[in-house]
Amino acid sequence: MNLFRVRGILLAVHFSFFLLLAVNAFDGWADSGWPGVWWNTAALLAFFACVVLHELGHSFTAMHYGIGVRRILLMPIGGMAEFESIPRQPRRELLITLAGPTVNFVIAGVLWLLLPGSAGLDALDPESSALSFFAFGHVLMRWNLVMGCFNLLPAFPMDGGRILRALLATRMEYLRATFWAATIGKVLSGIGAVAAFTYFDEPLLGALFTFIFIVGEMEYRAVRRREMEEEHLKSVLARLYDVRSNPVEESPPLPQP
Ligand SMILES: [Zn+2]
Repeated sequence: MNLFRVRGILLAVHFSFFLLLAVNAFDGWADSGWPGVWWNTAALLAFFACVVLHELGHSFTAMHYGIGVRRILLMPIGGMAEFESIPRQPRRELLITLAGPTVNFVIAGVLWLLLPGSAGLDALDPESSALSFFAFGHVLMRWNLVMGCFNLLPAFPMDGGRILRALLATRMEYLRATFWAATIGKVLSGIGAVAAFTYFDEPLLGALFTFIFIVGEMEYRAVRRREMEEEHLKSVLARLYDVRSNPVEESPPLPQP
């Protein structure tokens, strides 16, 4: 479902997001009735607002380098900015990637400056709405720290994996750098998925790692295919150039009728 545009970037929500919203609201209702519903919904929307800001961080940096951004898609497992192309220059990819987690750390830093510390919270009346408001701010601050750090895990195509690819690409061929970043990413997300499903019993986190595993492989294959197409195009152009520099003898004129 399309929501609205920010500087030309379409913000869209996957339908399963509404399922998450409903399950989350129901959880709150089971916990403490209507206040629980409002609280849980507000918390989830605030969390996803931070996800959107993270994606806008990537998008605005990409647009600064002239790369078009089609849309930002929100899903229960997070957000995804869809770029028209991914820059081959490691420096650009590095800056575009770093911009996302930086947004989370800036939000966390601003909240840390604005909110009273735990001593200040203790001084408040436990029944006051100011306390729950500030406590909510603290939760949001921690979420942003977790979001920023989690995205920096070197599991390609998450931000950390892209940073790894960009760093490797300064030392080796782009395709090879992608291969290694994707391989490390698949090992890490594989371990993460198994641990989340079994030991931690966190199915949503397990689904996220499985998604990262699959998308990592897909993106590596897309890079490999593009690389092969470019090689093919180069060889065709080289042959054309050969033909032009050694033109075949002109064919004899056609007989006149
Ligand atoms: Zn990101």
